[in-house]
Amino acid sequence: MDHEHVREVDPAVADALENELDRQRSTLQMIASENHVSRAVVDAQGSVLTNKYAEGYPGSRYYGGCEYADEVEELAIERAKELFGAEHVNVQPHAGTQANQAVYFAMLEPGDRILSLDLNHGGHLSHGHPANFTGQLYEVQQYEVDPETGYLDYDGLAEMATEFDPDIVVSGYSAYPRDIEWERIQDVADDVDAYHLADIAHITGLVAAGVHSSPVGVADFVTGSTHKTIRAGRGGIVMCDEEYADDIDSAVFPGGQGGPLMHNVAGKAVGFKEALEPEFEEYAEQVVANATALGESLSEHGFSLVSGGTDNHLVLVDLRESHPDVSGGDAEDALEEAGIVLNGNTVPGETRSPFDPSGIRAGTPGLTTRGFDEKDCREVGDLIARVIDNLEDEAVIAEVREEVERLCEENPLYEDA
Ligand SMILES: *Cc1c(COP(=O)(O)O)cnc(C)c1O
Repeated sequence: MDHEHVREVDPAVADALENELDRQRSTLQMIASENHVSRAVVDAQGSVLTNKYAEGYPGSRYYGGCEYADEVEELAIERAKELFGAEHVNVQPHAGTQANQAVYFAMLEPGDRILSLDLNHGGHLSHGHPANFTGQLYEVQQYEVDPETGYLDYDGLAEMATEFDPDIVVSGYSAYPRDIEWERIQDVADDVDAYHLADIAHITGLVAAGVHSSPVGVADFVTGSTHKTIRAGRGGIVMCDEEYADDIDSAVFPGGQGGPLMHNVAGKAVGFKEALEPEFEEYAEQVVANATALGESLSEHGFSLVSGGTDNHLVLVDLRESHPDVSGGDAEDALEEAGIVLNGNTVPGETRSPFDPSGIRAGTPGLTTRGFDEKDCREVGDLIARVIDNLEDEAVIAEVREEVERLCEENPLYEDA
């Protein structure tokens, strides 16, 4: 990835791209929503399909010259159907937020009611946050996790649904480390005659690989991101039964978007093909085994994990008990200095501000892509503990930075690039 053509035109951007590649290679990417796609997906997303307008859908476009765009989009759709067992798939949403937007726009009127998980408890901006269009167009009420266990409070959700009478119940989360009982949430939605949107943005790859329970065929609508646990490049996807296919398609285009980003649709097609290979299932299993190992290591170092552990690709650490004087933001900054990149995160029962919360969230999709196993992830747990226990100690941070570089060299990224 020498970006030679960029360099000829724009050395400043070429430098930034090269530095970014270096950064990804030499540091640990533990932001739970990030991953490293293959060179094949990078090439597809960086292709001349960026030039092509393809408003409409395969076989029925508003522009000429779409025969290859059609081929690419049909491949993406067919592969997604096979991966998820979905009846209908729309691969055009620019990202996960736009996938959610399509579902709301298709099924709700302004002023209708959304019942979703509180952002502090692991929800997402596009589920009704006041700063997001969802919080401004719809009436929103939010359910929570059980403050004692950190698990979803399904009974509390059911009670709230009866009282609030929502038009749609949203499940699927950004910082929830446990498996999700989709049927129970579907029952809640059915009981109050609401739709159920299951947003699997974070766990798209785990669901595709069958290592996390699937809401496809259970929930009315399933949305996802294609760049988190599945390595299909930046984008979004909506799945539903045939009965809602036309509503969803017209809510994506022309409802909420113009021309699809066909280069990204090509990335999705390639990434989905990779995810259909047996190696992808091994990858997804390793992601979960690695998160479990990381969680165990952190617990052994005295950290408190929300829900006590994990069933998926991430752990959520509540620093308040073990390190009452350390905020998530402080931890994030010191860890970044040591080459460990993750994010401060709100925790259930948050007592600080969302800008400097009480927790950190750490995921293993990126590390697993570059070859980390359970032993490596235990070691990463040791390194995280060493930094947070010695937040102000520059010598310790420098030592950890060296250990990080060694781990990176042992597990190289984009080797042939
Ligand atoms: C990441 C995420 C999304 C989508 O985010 P985009 O950045 O728009 O792709 C949607 N829902 C949840 C729960 C998420 O975690």
